[in-house]
Amino acid sequence: MVSCEIISVGTELLLGDILDTNAQYLSRELAALGISVLHRSTVGDNPVRLAEEITAALSRSDYVILTGGLGPTADDITKEVCCSVMGFSLETDQNILADISAFFKAKNIPMPQSNAKQALVPVGGTVFHNDNGTAPGIAMEKDGKCAILLPGPPREMTAMFQSAVVPFLKKKNRGAIISHTVRTYGIGESAMAEKVSDLLENDNPTVAPYAKDGEALLRVTAFAETEDDAEKMILPVLEEINKRLGDYIYGTDVDSIQQALVNELRAKHLHVAFAESCTAGFISKRLTEVPGASEVFDCSIVSYSNEIKSKLLNVKEETLAEYGAVSEQTAREMAIGVREVSGADIAVSVTGIAGPDGTDTKPAGLAFIGIADKDSVRAIEFKTGRNDREYNRYVTASKALKTALDSAKKY
Ligand code: ATP
Repeated sequence: MVSCEIISVGTELLLGDILDTNAQYLSRELAALGISVLHRSTVGDNPVRLAEEITAALSRSDYVILTGGLGPTADDITKEVCCSVMGFSLETDQNILADISAFFKAKNIPMPQSNAKQALVPVGGTVFHNDNGTAPGIAMEKDGKCAILLPGPPREMTAMFQSAVVPFLKKKNRGAIISHTVRTYGIGESAMAEKVSDLLENDNPTVAPYAKDGEALLRVTAFAETEDDAEKMILPVLEEINKRLGDYIYGTDVDSIQQALVNELRAKHLHVAFAESCTAGFISKRLTEVPGASEVFDCSIVSYSNEIKSKLLNVKEETLAEYGAVSEQTAREMAIGVREVSGADIAVSVTGIAGPDGTDTKPAGLAFIGIADKDSVRAIEFKTGRNDREYNRYVTASKALKTALDSAKKY
């Protein structure tokens, strides 16, 4: 398997002034390409330590990807240090110089002389055009090793990685790499991994578990001569995963639960509505992040106070008095209420205790999700087991979205 290391360059990173999101992004993208990331390191703008780090990384791995330090100022040293370690000389690329001066001209600012430094490229290297800034990216290959230098600003780095580095890596590592991601909700990462433990031992396709935002994911990656062959190798593995994880799976190659929900509702021409107490609009925010949500989403009523639960959703005062706002009974009546107001096919309600204050009988993290659809009206008790307001609101919203998705699947 092809190996890689990531070096993040910049004293700001070491001081904790900025978070190293570039390394996280690159690790994820390289894994999707089937490239193993063996090490990650961070170095300040210091030529000696940077040279040591590059030398060590090149001795261990096929690829070394560096981000940052390609700017015009004296402390931007990545290109110069890497060239000196690998034995490349630098020369001005007139096309890049013209691009840089055009970049400034378009902004109506005179080009600072120092920016000319960014047009220096290693003789025999590959240059990646920067569509969003002035520093070009660079690849230098020698003795079967390759260093790839990318600009630090994440917007520039990610765009360049997708448009230039991915095709470069695919061309170098002949053959096809295909990856699919299976997303689950309602099962923890370790429980999910146990159910597919034998598949995790596979070499090709590889199956790797991840956990993210209260969800568990499996990424299946295959390498083959052609994309078709890779797909053929992946198919039986996906079928096996589907068999073993069944209803926990809410989608393959979808971005999120809300994306899966919008897809399902659109395919079936259904409408959904929500009544939100503790999530206070968070469910509708997430749903409307998906383009095309307006085709399927009617409304979300944020009914935080008891008064509004009664006035707008017709929750009976006796229900609130007898069982409380956070109860199965209230959740049901909220769902019925919003289904009546909206006329939606599927209505889902949420009432719960986000925290930090809870009681013995109603602890933080407890929620009831009500659902009114073509079949029936019901409510489910849901416990996050945590006293973390933000987490509770997020995963409760996820549970409500998943509940709506399960209902839509029955239509
Ligand atoms: P510039 O031309 O802007 O100087 P550069 O390639 O020299 O680009 P740096 O100067 O190292 O990059 O970083 C520029 C900015 O990019 C930093 O101030 C920071 O906001 C962001 N940045 C750099 N490295 C990272 C990283 N690893 N993760 C997240 N953001 C980063």
